[in-house]
Parts: sequence; C-alpha cells; structure tokens
Amino acid sequence: MSINRTLFLLVFIITLVFGAACSATEEEQPSKPNILLILADDLGYNDLGFQGSTELKTPNLDNLAKNGVIFTNAYVTASVCSPSRAGLITGKYQQFFGHEANIPPPELGTDTTMITMADVLQENGYRTGINGKWHLGYNYNYHPNSRGFDHFWGFLGGHRSYFPEGYSPENYKAIYTNRNHTPFKGEYLTDTQADEAVSFIDEAIEPFFLFLSLAAPHAPMHALKSDMALFSNSDRPEYAAMVYAMDRAIGKVVDHLDNIGELDNTLIVFLSDNGGSPENDSENAPLKGFKGNKFEGGLRVPFMVHWPEKIRGGQRFNGLSSSLDLFPTFLNAAGIEKPQDLALDGTSLIPFMVNEQDRSPHDQLFFRKETAAAVRDGKWKLIRLDDYGYVLYDLENDPYETDDLKNQYSAQFEKMKTALKNWEKNTVDPWWNENTRWQQVTIDIHEDLMRNQPIRRINPN
Ligand code: CA
Repeated sequence: MSINRTLFLLVFIITLVFGAACSATEEEQPSKPNILLILADDLGYNDLGFQGSTELKTPNLDNLAKNGVIFTNAYVTASVCSPSRAGLITGKYQQFFGHEANIPPPELGTDTTMITMADVLQENGYRTGINGKWHLGYNYNYHPNSRGFDHFWGFLGGHRSYFPEGYSPENYKAIYTNRNHTPFKGEYLTDTQADEAVSFIDEAIEPFFLFLSLAAPHAPMHALKSDMALFSNSDRPEYAAMVYAMDRAIGKVVDHLDNIGELDNTLIVFLSDNGGSPENDSENAPLKGFKGNKFEGGLRVPFMVHWPEKIRGGQRFNGLSSSLDLFPTFLNAAGIEKPQDLALDGTSLIPFMVNEQDRSPHDQLFFRKETAAAVRDGKWKLIRLDDYGYVLYDLENDPYETDDLKNQYSAQFEKMKTALKNWEKNTVDPWWNENTRWQQVTIDIHEDLMRNQPIRRINPN
C-alpha cells in the first residue's frame, strides 16, 4: 500500500469516527423547547369546554387539553391579579417580599431584588417576551424590560379598553412597545395580542419564552359584534364573546407554531390568574366564591399543559399543584440548572406528567392577602378571616365548602393553624395596602419610565 493511499485511508477513518461522534452529540442534545405561558385574566373555572362548559365555545383550548394534561387541583397564590402574577413570575410566595395587596401604587412594584423566570431564561439563551397585561409596577425599575424580558408589547396596568383609543392620557392603560408609547394597531385587543405574539415568535432566532398575558376576559366588557352574534341566546353575550375571542387568539398562535414546525417542541401552559369575577359574568361552578376571596372559586383555576414531544396527552392530573411550580417546571424543561442562590417555593411538574404519577407536588399550599388567609392540606381547607375566625372544610366530601368541621376534627384544625402560623413567620409587612390605589396617580408614568426611581417602601399603616 502506498504512503498516499495509507494517508487517504487514515483521513477517511478519522473523518468517519469524528463525524459519527459529532452526529451522536447532536442527537443527544435536542434543541431546547420553546415555552409559551398563556395567562387568562379573571376567567371562570367552568368557562371552557374542557372544564365542562356547554355554553361557551373554546375549540382551540379544548383541542390542546385533549392532547395535553388537565390539572384538576391547581391553584394560584392569590385571588386577585397583581399578587397572583408576582407569585407566578418569581416562583415565590409573594407575601415573602411584600407584594401581598393588589394594584401597586405608582412608585412601587414587584421587589427588584427578586429574580423572575424571565431573568433566568434570558440568561440561558432564551429570547424572552411578554405580550399584554403587566400589572407588576410601572416605573423604570419595575418595567418588563427591567425584569428579564427582551421584548414588551402591552399595557402596564390592570386593564384597559379592548378598542383603540389613541394615546391614553392614563399611561398605565396606554399601549407600549418596550418603553415607548405605540399606536394601537388592529381593531380588537385580544386579536392584536395574537398578531403581536406571532410577530414575536417569527423574530426569535433562539428558543423563545413568551408570556402571553391576555387582557381577556377581565372587564371592561368589550366584545366584537360579530362574536356576540354567536351568543345571541346567552344571558351573558359579552363575556361569551370575549372568551370566544380569547380562544381564537390562542388558536392563531398555536396554528402558527404548527405551521412553522415548532408546536411539538413548545411547552404550552394555560391558566387563569385568579377565579372568575362578579364583574364579568364568569362562572366558577362547581366551586364556591369568586375573585377576591379565599373560597375555591377565587383560588383554584383552570390549568393545562401541552408538550407533545415529551408528555403524553389525554391525562388528568389530580395532585395538589400551584402556579409556583411553573418557574421550576420551565427550568427543568429547558435543562437549566437552578441558580444556587435562588430559593423557589414550587417544584417541577415535568416528572409528574412524564412518569404519570398521581401524587401531589405539594403537601400544603398557603394563601394570604392582608388579613384573610387560607391553607390547603391534602383534602382539607382552612380559611381565616379577621372578623369571623376560622373554618375547616373537607373538600373531598364537601367541595362546595359548606360544613365547618373544625370542632369534629380538632387535631387537623390545630395542625393547619400551626402550619399557617409557621408559614407566616416568613412573610414581611406588605409594601402597600388596599387604601393605596392607582386611581390616586399624580405622577406622570410616562416620564417615570424614562428614569430610575428609588425603591420606597410604604408602611401599610
Ligand atoms: Ca385577574
């Protein structure tokens, strides 16, 4: 064999070996999943086809649920918007950092020392975006672009018109692209949110994390006439039309992911930020209560996960779960190790879904907004109201929270009271209370966005 031929063979073999090694490495490291977090606002527990509604039309969400996992025992950390969102985005009980009351005053927001899920995903190569409602602070330090989001399109407050209104004089209701006022493109906010979401996805080269924070179906009750026409026999046509439009918007985003071949590798989570509200004609049956209180209708929410590449569809998961679990779930899905100094209060839901284990991610969950508190412990539910005292319910046998059993089950009652007391040792004084309202805004938010504001803590008293 000539030297040239020997050399050629050697190079050929080396190429084969290294080529095989490289392709094996590529196979072992599949691309990171995209993450799409869809949060509805004040959606009723029963107001989706997959939750049992026969009146409302949600075909796109029903289809996702059919191919995903429906959580039947999933909670948010507060029964009103802002603290629920603070718990979700930080993965921490919001009472541990003062974000306990609703509606931050103009100069405050979610503690800037808290790390958000967007911070960690952004640091790990995700293109991060939020679309729609923010409600976690208004000025520079609290703005989405300061909290881990590369891109923000939406409004900073808790609600706004669904129709274009030009440049709103109330800046927390104006539409922003990042830190700038933007004209409202489109005709109806829910549909425009879908269009903006599709644009964000198309512009992302890296895997993306998109927090689609829907305005719907929170009041005001603004609906398209064409959608309302579908519900002419309903006694709540505006609400039904708003939910229908919400489902259409989600369908548009999901169809787009499918069309570009990214649907199977996108982890989609859908939930509501709190229970249905009397303000919007929502329906929480079979649960008692609504937005703003500690009954199940305020705190237990529709919750569904869809990720065909990793998780078998058609499951119902009954374990006690929480919006606190989403931060660790996303890190787990993305293969990101939790930063050592980051203490999260939830746990990844991925193993429960992949291994199809019907045990609970949590033994207990805690809830408190100022003086009203609650605990879930297995099938038990404790509620404490300042002017009323305690009640203890057995949700398995009394899902509608009717029979107070604290005297019959005094050991369980004492156990849960003690657990609540111990949990409260980790809470801090709320940074603001319900007497401090954004209606009192005298600061020009638009200017505040452009400059750093020092963090000022307000004594709740
Ligand atoms: Ca809400």
